[in-house]
Formats: sequence, structure tokens, C-alpha cells
Amino acid sequence: MSQTYQLYIDGAFVPSESGQTFESRNPYDGSLVATASRGNAADIDKAVQAARRAFDDTAGPWRTMGAQGRADLLLKLSEKIAEHTEAWMPLEIADSGATLKKAQGDFFLAASQMKYFSKLATSYPFKQPLDDMSRAGTSHHYLLKEPVGVCGQIIPWNFPLLMAIWKLGPALAAGCTVVLKPAEETPVSAMELAKLCHEVGFPKGVVNVVTGTGKEAGEPLVQHPGVDKVAFTGSTEIGRHIMAEAAASMKRVTLECGGKSANIILDDADLDIALDGSLYAVFFHSGQCCTAGSRLLIPKSRHDEIVERLVETTRHIRLGNPAEKSTDMGPVISQKQLDRILSLIKTGQAEGATLLAGGHRATGDGLDQGYFIEPTIFDQVDPNSTLAQEEIFGPVLSLLPYTDEAEAVAIANNSQYGLAGAVWSQDQQRAERVAAQLRTGTVWINEYHLINVRAPFGGYKQSGLGRELGPNALDAYTETKHVHVDELGTRDKKFWYNALIKPTSTAAK
Ligand code: NAD
Ligand code: MN
Repeated sequence: MSQTYQLYIDGAFVPSESGQTFESRNPYDGSLVATASRGNAADIDKAVQAARRAFDDTAGPWRTMGAQGRADLLLKLSEKIAEHTEAWMPLEIADSGATLKKAQGDFFLAASQMKYFSKLATSYPFKQPLDDMSRAGTSHHYLLKEPVGVCGQIIPWNFPLLMAIWKLGPALAAGCTVVLKPAEETPVSAMELAKLCHEVGFPKGVVNVVTGTGKEAGEPLVQHPGVDKVAFTGSTEIGRHIMAEAAASMKRVTLECGGKSANIILDDADLDIALDGSLYAVFFHSGQCCTAGSRLLIPKSRHDEIVERLVETTRHIRLGNPAEKSTDMGPVISQKQLDRILSLIKTGQAEGATLLAGGHRATGDGLDQGYFIEPTIFDQVDPNSTLAQEEIFGPVLSLLPYTDEAEAVAIANNSQYGLAGAVWSQDQQRAERVAAQLRTGTVWINEYHLINVRAPFGGYKQSGLGRELGPNALDAYTETKHVHVDELGTRDKKFWYNALIKPTSTAAK
């Protein structure tokens, strides 16, 4: 059942210029999922040129169809995603290691979020009057929000389908054209989406998808002078690098990067909900979420009770084949990630944190071929240690005991990251007071991970730059133009006529 994919460039499926390919294997059992084309700078150049033509041809089909035409295409794309979900989902699970439950959520959200972006294409204010500035008989003013141009979009492997939706949706709604580069670990979703884009009839060159590695395909996309904007989701390290590279031609940049989110249980929290919620916060998708609640701040006054219950519940998390309904946690994506996570666990032990649960690669019971790691909990984690500071991106929870609210806030904000966080309390006012002090782009109160397409999402500090989603999702894909329309009419009333042009008696002398 393994798939073969070519690149999608200028409305056609074509092999890479080099003819080279790469494999994507199932992180559960190592079986071959897909053979994809290994794009490089030559393919990126072709794709950018195609996107450039589709954008620059102002009399062409894309630029003339208008917001309603774009909305119609995006709505059709959303419907296609829903139609294809059943056939496509097993492939997505095999490619990404997502559990069936996660994949079901991803597909539902992919279709509904694309529908939201379709609506934004017509509801977004592309023309905004500047009423307080316009004066009848003097001048009339408005803003035009115009598509920024050709967008290079680079996405990671943890939510390959949704990240493609978050990138394509707003860019296309705004009228941009796109070159999308999925992660080399997960080429399937972007290529399946390319097929659907082709079916619904986007004009050629509007959507281009080039698979390949970060170095060979990602880097030339960021450097290409024909790209106006780069949108990236991935590690903070590569995010910084991309921002620097983009500076050469002053490309617009949005970044969604790493996190080390603090999840704060206040001493009055309802532990029935807070503890299960906190395990979900860190162990969902084996911890491979940028918003993972990887630092759990617990009140010293309730330490023992909390620890005991967390460890007990963790014992019941079932590892297994992600495709099976009964599986709670699947493998991590790759050998590289497995090695990195295990090495950080070793560092945690060396730094003196107390290992309460897990800590090893999980084996036996059909797990041997997969990249499984036991759900792991460390207690007494020093807020300045590697465990508390580094994004692990695996099923590793650090417990950080605190004395009072002020200390909890200080520990929470002691991070280079600022993506998300949560507060658990039965006192809403108190929870909101703590939430207001957290330097993060999202805070949940008595909840976790719920990202809604209707709210802006992004990071403070080194978790990123700019916001995706929400009613203003198109802001990051538009330039702002001020149009000034004169209504004075006659030359005599003009400032410049009197200041510079009008002949005066002194000037005549
Ligand atoms: P990465 O940042 O290297 O990869 C993300 C994307 O960037 C991929 O498509 C990759 O091909 C591309 N890329 C890599 N190098 C590039 C370059 N020089 N120029 C342009 N594009 C480039 O992340 P990774 O190596 O897959 O994972 C490493 C760590 O990153 C993880 O352990 C985790 O901490 C973090 N991560 C975060 C997210 C997130 O959603 N915030 C997602 C994936 C990984
Ligand atoms: Mn894969």
C-alpha cells in the first residue's frame, strides 16, 4: 500500500530535477509508507517562478477571480478533505505516528478550519475606510490590504496536516501564491492536499508543493529572491536561522517555534480534573506538541497527593499500534527524536532530578520495531536545569514544586519560550490574575491544548513571531496600502502650489 509522490509544480505532478527520491517509514513498525521526490534548489526555483507568474499576472485567473472566487475554491477544498478522510487517514497515521484518536481530530479540524479560512476570504476587510481622516471636499482616504505575494511555507512533522492547513488557508484566502515544503519525515499530507488542490481547480502555479530536506529544499526556498514572505513552524533554532536568512531581501517572516509551557496547578484546584488534564497536556501525541505542558508547577502543600495520583494514572496509559482504537500513546517520529529524548532523560538524571516514572525506551508487546518511550515523570526539577529549560518534544514531564503564587509565576516566566500555559484553580478570579502575569501567547484556565481557529495563536519571546489563525489571520499575508484621493480640485488650494510653485513678487525679483 506504499505511495509514490512527485512534486507539484505549476499545476502538474513532476519528478525532481535530480530524479532522486526519499522514503518515509512508519515510526511504529518501520514499514515503507511513501517514496517522495527529493526536491532541491532547482525544483524550488521552478516552483517559485511558477508562483511568481501566477501572482504577477494581474490579468490572470488567480488575481481576477476575487475574494469570492478564492472562497469558493477553499470551500471546495474543505469538502474534498472531508470526503477523502476515510481513505486518507490510515496513510496519515502510518506516516506520522498519530494515534487514531489524534488523526480523527486532525482531519475534522482540517476540514472545518479550511472552511473558516474560506469564510475569511470574503469577511476579511480588504478595504478599510479611514473615516477620521477623510474630509469631504478636501480628501478621501482608505486602506487596501493587498496579498503580500509569493509565500514560502515550511512545516514540521508533528501536525503535518493541520500545519499545512494553517499555512495554505490564510495565504490563499488573502490572494497569495504558495510554495509549501513539508517536513521530510511526513510528506504524505502535503502531497495528498496537492492532489485535492489540483482536483478543485486552483489555477496553475497558485499552489506548489516541494518535498525534500530542510537543507536541500527549505534553505533555497528561504533564500530565493522571488519569495516575498516566509512562514515557518518548527524548532526555535531553525526559526532564528530563517529569520536571519530572510533579512537579505527583507522578506516578511512569521515564525511558530518551540515551547516549554508551564502548567500551574494552584492549591485550590480540583485535582480530579487538573491531574488528568495535566497528563493530557504533556503526553498527548507523545509530547510532540509545541504547546506541550512539559513543566508542571505544583504547590508544595499538596505535593505528595499530586505525585502519587499522577504516577498511578500514568501506569494506565497504553502504548501500542497508533492505528488501533485502544492505543493512548504512539511512538515518537524518528530514531533522531528517540535518541534526543533519551539523552535529555539521562541529562535530567545526571542533574539530580528524581525519576518517578518511565525513563526508558518502551519494548515488548509489539513495540520493539517502534520509537516508543515510556511516559516519564521527573520530580524536584530545578527551574534552571536542562530538563526545565530545554524543549524535549517527547513524553517527559518535569514537576517543579513551588511555595506561593508569586513564586509559581516567576518559575513559569523563567524561560526563553512563551508559547502557552495553563492555570488550574476553582477560583476563577485568582486563575485569571495568574494568567495575566504569564508571558505567553495562549493561557488556558482549567483546560489544555484547545486551539481554536477563531483565536490568534503564536508565541511571546523565542516561541515565535507574529500570530496565525483568528479573525486577523490574513494580516500576516497582506501588505497595507494607504490610498489618498484628493477632493480639493483646484490648484490654488493646494499646499504645494502656495509653498513652492506659485510665482511671488519676491521670487520674481
Ligand atoms: P526543524 O525545525 O529542523 O524542522 C522543521 C521544518 O524546517 C522541516 O520542514 C525541515 O525540513 C525544515 N528545515 C530544517 N532546516 C531548515 C533550514 N536550514 N532552512 C529551511 N528549512 C529548514 O525541526 P526537527 O529537526 O524536525 O525537530 C527538532 C526539534 O524541533 C524537536 O525536538 C522540537 O523540539 C522542535 N520542533 C518543534 C515543532 C513545533 O511545532 N514548534 C515542530 C517540530 C519540531
Ligand atoms: Mn513518515
